[in-house]
Amino acid sequence: MSTHLTRRKFLKTAALVLIPLVAVTRQASANSNSIVRAELKYQNTPMGNMNCSTCLEFIPGKSDKDSGRCKVIAGDDEISPNGYCTKWNSM
Ligand code: SF4
Repeated sequence: MSTHLTRRKFLKTAALVLIPLVAVTRQASANSNSIVRAELKYQNTPMGNMNCSTCLEFIPGKSDKDSGRCKVIAGDDEISPNGYCTKWNSM
């Protein structure tokens, strides 16, 4: 077996291992910041007509229904557009 074939086999094996690993890692990258959520009394439901989708701190997800992020709750990418917290900001 030549060195070239061995390298090719190694790269194929590495790809078979790394591609699923990257997929799993990306899935695991969804995070919520439970400490700040608790401090701000975050909830996944609106408070009257106040919700994250109408808050200036909200960074929308891919669609109107997808979870997004919040400028106030660092490291959290599971903020519901229908959520609410005590830092709701309309101005
Ligand atoms: S500050 Fe509160 S209400 Fe506004 S987007 Fe962030 S979590 Fe939602």
